[in-house]
Order: sequence, then C-alpha cells, then structure tokens
Amino acid sequence: MARIVMKFGGTSMAGIERIRRVAQIVKQQSDAGHEVAVVVSAMAGDTDRLVNFCREASSLYDPAEYDVVVASGEQVTSGLLAIALQSLGAKARSWLGWQMPIRTIESHSKARIDSIDGAALTAAMQSGEIAIIPGFQGISEDGRVTTLGRGGSDTSAVAIAAAVKADRCDIYTDVDGVYTSDPRIVTRARKLKTVTFEEMLELASVGAKVLQTRSVGLAMKEGVRIQVLSSFTDENTNWTADDLPGTMIISEDEMETDDMEGQLITGIAHDKNESKITLTRVPDKPGAVANIFAPLADAAINVDMIIQNVGREKGETDVTFTVPSADLDQAMQVLEGARESIGFNRLIPDSNVAKISVVGVGMKSHAGIASTMFKALADRGVNIQAITTSEIKVSVLIEEDYTELALRVLHTAYGLDAEDAA
Ligand code: ADP
Ligand code: ASP
Ligand code: MG
Repeated sequence: MARIVMKFGGTSMAGIERIRRVAQIVKQQSDAGHEVAVVVSAMAGDTDRLVNFCREASSLYDPAEYDVVVASGEQVTSGLLAIALQSLGAKARSWLGWQMPIRTIESHSKARIDSIDGAALTAAMQSGEIAIIPGFQGISEDGRVTTLGRGGSDTSAVAIAAAVKADRCDIYTDVDGVYTSDPRIVTRARKLKTVTFEEMLELASVGAKVLQTRSVGLAMKEGVRIQVLSSFTDENTNWTADDLPGTMIISEDEMETDDMEGQLITGIAHDKNESKITLTRVPDKPGAVANIFAPLADAAINVDMIIQNVGREKGETDVTFTVPSADLDQAMQVLEGARESIGFNRLIPDSNVAKISVVGVGMKSHAGIASTMFKALADRGVNIQAITTSEIKVSVLIEEDYTELALRVLHTAYGLDAEDAA
C-alpha cells in the first residue's frame, strides 16, 4: 500500500458537481487501501476575482491583507471536498495552513515554504482519515496568513508529499498530462509519457503553466515522484495506483537512452506575461548597464531577456530588456526616477510581446536547433525582437499576435506533430 498526495487544480474544483467527482477519485484511492492527503486549489476564476477585489479596494493594498483575501478561495474548496467525501461515507477533514502548520518565509504574496510539520497529518492518514489541505497558503513567522504566488498549490502539494514522505504526488488537472506544447493551442501536440525534472523545470519557467516552476524545483531537490493526469474522466474509470495514465516527471538517470537520443526537442512553451522596455541613447561606456539594472534589482524586479543594440554614433546605444508584465508600471517608475544617473533619451514600454521557447536536453549535444527556429519563424514573416539561450533552451521574443502561429510552425518544424492529427 502506498502513501499518496493528490492535488486538484481550479478547473477540477469548479463547482459542487466537479468536487463530487473529485471526491469519488480520491475515495477510490483510499478504498484501495492507500493513505491519502489531498491538496486543493480554489475554484477556477475565484483567485482572479479575489485579486481584483483587492485592486479595487486600493491600488496600493497591504500585501499581508491581500494574502488574507486571496487565501480564502482554497479554504472554501477544502471544506467542501471534506463534506463531499464524508457524504460518500469516507473519513475526511480539512487542515488549514496555520493548523498543520505550513511555515513560510519571505514576502507576502510570494512566500516560500520553509518547513512543514507533517506529524499530525501523517498520524491522521495512518488512521485512515483523508487529509484535505488548501493549497497556496501558509503562515509567516509572526503568525500571519501567507500565499505562495499564483499557481502555488502545485508547490504546496509537492512540499506536503516531501513532508509526509509520500510515495507519489499526483497532480490532477484539466489536461491528461504534459504535452509537447500547450494542447489548447497546438492541436497536434503529443502527450509525453515521461519528462525529466530538468526539462520540466525549464518548460515551466518559460511558461508551460501545467506545473508551477517552484514545484518542479522542489520535487527535484526532495526526490518527490510527480505525475500529471486528468481529473476529467468518467465514473467508470477505476485506476489502480500503479496504473495511472498521465505524464511521469523523472530524473535523467531513469530516462531510457533511446528517449534521450530520439528526441531533440521536448517541448515548446509560450509566455505572454512579459513586457519589453527600451531605453534609447544610453551612454555607451563602462557602468552604463549597471546604472539601469541596479535600481531594478533594488526594487526586486526580475529582468529576463536583455539586448544591447549596436552602438549609435556619438558613443550612445539602445538597451532593450523584458520584465514581468505585472512589474511593468513599477519598472517604468523606477527607471524614470533614475533618468539622470542612467542618462537615456526615451523610455519605451511594450506589453504586446510574447516569449516563445524551445526546450530539450538533446540540445546539449546538437548544433542547429536555434537556426531551425529562426528560419521557421522568418519563413512565416515573424520578426524576432530578442533572443536568449541556455544549455537546453532557446527563447525568442516576438509580437504577441503571432504567438499561436509561431507555436504551431515551430511544432511542425521540429517534427513534433502527432501522426494521427488532422
Ligand atoms: P490547474 O488549475 O489544474 O492548476 P493550470 O491551468 O494551472 O491547471 O494548468 C493546466 C493548463 O496548462 C492546461 O489547461 C494547458 O492549457 C496549460 N499548458 C500549457 N503548456 C502545457 C503543456 N506543455 N502541457 C500540458 N498543458 C499545458
Ligand atoms: N488558486 C491559486 C491561483 O489561482 C493557486 C493555485 O490554483 O495553484 O493561483
Ligand atoms: Mg496550476
């Protein structure tokens, strides 16, 4: 018998009917004799609604109170799932972040899990009670409610799996696994049977939101087995614990050599949540870029892609970079405030951009991956505004309107299209 953490995302928890279905899936595992903890998200759309309430109440809201508001969505669904399980005759109770407790550090609205006391939870699971934990939330050192950043319930699930030494962490969502690209956009995307931690980490960090990036990093560090699978199955489905049909996230050692050599590119992701900023006529001299990025770093704004354009005449140059769209206004303010020390002419924001990334460990030992990307995009008239690479990734910045076209064209160019697709 196994100890399992099951996580259900927002679409899986959207409404009482769906929650009843989730209760059945959970009960199946419990009836099979497994010890079960369940981590739940808020109903789809609820967290957005709560975030908007905070913004409406004040544009400069207190992040600690924001956490109190946005953490409430998960409190509702955890209680409802416990009720639904009880009505099926199962023993179940909810465990809020502060009750376990899940201790977090760092800032409100983007807290990180420091430690989880899994003792009481483990004892409850051993006694045959199903433990339901609201994802996304924790408690700060001074006893206040915190949240882990958007999509954070995945990270809660992995952290709980590590704390109770679970055999597996099953992430149930609205697609039945990790695909070569977002299956809602690329209809020819193929489901992957396995993905390495390294690739999943890279895919998530460049926009494949099927798993929150931090959850993958944590699973890699703690050795948690993650599987992604769908909760949208009919009532006759009765999976045994070892026979789940999703995507398994594995270490490179577990990967069969054939897989590694057969597939150069694992997947293609997109991210529409970055914005571009260009500073024109910056002095082309030592220290100039430091003057731009130091104040942004001080304001805790992450800069991703950076390009310094070819120098103009008179010792001047243009500098372009991207920041998360959520931080664009603040970044503009910070740079405007540093206008004198930087010495630029114009400050131009552009949120109409998207980042497209191809990811694959096979890239480490192969040339020509980037040029295939550039050529495929050029053939369709898609202009590349910035480029970054890592050992297993190439990313380009393009105009947002071309996102879907770029994903599909690249998917075909790298030979990833499913054979039986129309
Ligand atoms: P949940 O609410 O269950 O956490 P999310 O919406 O956060 O679900 O993540 C699931 C979504 O991720 C899918 O509906 C899909 O559109 C998107 N997605 C993006 N890239 C991929 C990919 N490579 N494979 C599968 N899903 C992906
Ligand atoms: N409800 C939170 C969000 O929408 C956390 C999660 O679902 O993972 O971001
Ligand atoms: Mg999610």
